[in-house]
Amino acid sequence: MGSGDLEFRHVAETFAALERVSSRTQMAVVLAKLFKRTPPQVIDKVVYLLQGRLLPDWKGAPELGVGEKLLVKAIAQAYRVSESRVEKMFKALGDLGSVAEKLAEESKSKMSRGAGLLAFMGSQQAGLTVSRVYNDLLRVAYAQGEGSRDIKLKIVAGLLVDATPLEAKYIVRFIEGRLRLGVGDATILDALALAFGGGSHSRPVIERAYNLRADLGYIARLVAEKGVDSVKGIKPEVGVPVRPMLAERGKDPAEVLRKVGGTALAEYKYDGERAQIHKAGDKIIIYSRRLENITHMYPDVVEMARKGIKAERAIVEGEIVAIDPDTGELRPFQVLMHRKRKHDIIKVMKEVPVAVYLFDAIYVDGEDLTQKPLPERRKILESIIEESDNWKIAKYIITSDAEQLWKFFLEAIEEGAEGIMIKALHRESYYTAGVRGWLWVKLKRDYKSEMTDTVDLVVVGAFYGKGKRGGKLSSLLMAAYDPDRDIFVTVCKVATGFTDEELDKMNEMLKRYIIPRRHPRVESKLEPDVWVEPALVAEVLGAELTLSPMHTCCMGAIRPGVGISIRFPRFIRWRDDKRPEDATTTKELIEMYKRQLRRLEEAPVET
Ligand code: ATP
Repeated sequence: MGSGDLEFRHVAETFAALERVSSRTQMAVVLAKLFKRTPPQVIDKVVYLLQGRLLPDWKGAPELGVGEKLLVKAIAQAYRVSESRVEKMFKALGDLGSVAEKLAEESKSKMSRGAGLLAFMGSQQAGLTVSRVYNDLLRVAYAQGEGSRDIKLKIVAGLLVDATPLEAKYIVRFIEGRLRLGVGDATILDALALAFGGGSHSRPVIERAYNLRADLGYIARLVAEKGVDSVKGIKPEVGVPVRPMLAERGKDPAEVLRKVGGTALAEYKYDGERAQIHKAGDKIIIYSRRLENITHMYPDVVEMARKGIKAERAIVEGEIVAIDPDTGELRPFQVLMHRKRKHDIIKVMKEVPVAVYLFDAIYVDGEDLTQKPLPERRKILESIIEESDNWKIAKYIITSDAEQLWKFFLEAIEEGAEGIMIKALHRESYYTAGVRGWLWVKLKRDYKSEMTDTVDLVVVGAFYGKGKRGGKLSSLLMAAYDPDRDIFVTVCKVATGFTDEELDKMNEMLKRYIIPRRHPRVESKLEPDVWVEPALVAEVLGAELTLSPMHTCCMGAIRPGVGISIRFPRFIRWRDDKRPEDATTTKELIEMYKRQLRRLEEAPVET
């Protein structure tokens, strides 16, 4: 063994010791001892082994690809016993690691009594090193395709032959993915601070470095080789994911505003998948919230990023959301999930188109932006993003008024967002990677309620579609009937539920009713592309009723300045049998809304 390596037995012994301690503090002490004895050149490997992996997830190392069957075979081969014996012991002990340990002990005592002793001792004395174990396992993972099973088998059996019983136990458990040492990232950070930083006071520095470069092996090696000071100046790097900044949860807009310092940037909280987009020239990588490489799932986003980021090297963040291809409207998270479950990406890309809403910039052309306050980051983000149809800066307002914030929240919900994100704008509003804090506060509704009844609504306007529905009227402005005032008040825009055929029929039907201006019996805050005389009634089912500042239905009935609307409405069928005055009334909608609330214990936000 060269001086730059570590005998694997120290790692195996540490694993065993970790199984005996129960507190995190004790674990950190045990680990720190191991780290101190580990030559810096291999400490990254030790850290990965501890984490039960060979590389950080985002590096996309292949799986080991050694199933239970193959492992049984390898154990049988290594210890020259039958597979059925291994199986039997497995049934009795319930853990292949313990089987390997027992068989290794047996074969050791057999060997020391029998012939072949010298040869056996030779290999035993050489001992396994961390590099040998790690590199062999990496070879196992990278053995792919034809003949790879035999290669994997040979390498694993070879490792077991050379392993002590304790080493064999943990090698097998590692391969099975069953180390279960209970060592989390936080404990490893504690141990690094103890081993190389003189104690827990240096932990924040190491943790910050890890938050900016999410590779614990790399950070450990840097700290071990060059000391804690060397990680102080660490910056994000294109290609290495940054741990995401996270938000606290708020309840009341006024209180949230106070918490973030009076004035805030409020954005839609889009209901999709977080994307950390890295760009280096033409190369684009997308990391998920969990820092997995998800680039392959979003070839369309890659293309948008290539064109829409006007910087050579950048890391920006946004949310990928499913949209309705015909209207550009937001679709719920579940729709995006369809995309993730399918394999034919190119096909599903068309079925589930997405938009990206960008909200932060972490790094741009050599500059680490994490230490800049949000207003500066925003300015830089806006300067490098070239918006297009489905590639946009997140919708936002800047406000210090709780009432305005509340209305923005309702608008966001109604438009299909999950709520809003309220972000501090003060001097210290940094990008705090990996931290959940009060610089960002999310305001979501605490409840979800289903709308079970359909409603019958009157068409009072229409909008032109996009894409293949361009030039055709494809979404309808729908109204309820207010019997007290004998007028029609808008309640939602319906764009889904129509087949292409129905859409053509609808365009024909609408022709007769299009009028040059708003009908005097219609009250609306929205301005559709064409106004329609109230005549046609359609049955609509939505996800739920929600308060809305954008619609005039039941304006002020629940709360001043806001009406009621229907979220994610869907066309069911025409109700030719109904006159507009037979449509669902405002009174009925108020009743439905209240019933919905009664089922829930609290209103969305204190009034
Ligand atoms: P949740 O389950 O509520 O999404 P979370 O734990 O994933 O919570 P939080 O920090 O609580 O994360 O909420 C922020 C999340 O909201 C981000 O991870 C991101 O995916 C999403 N998001 C949507 N729109 C925005 C936005 N405008 N700014 C920041 N995050 C946004």
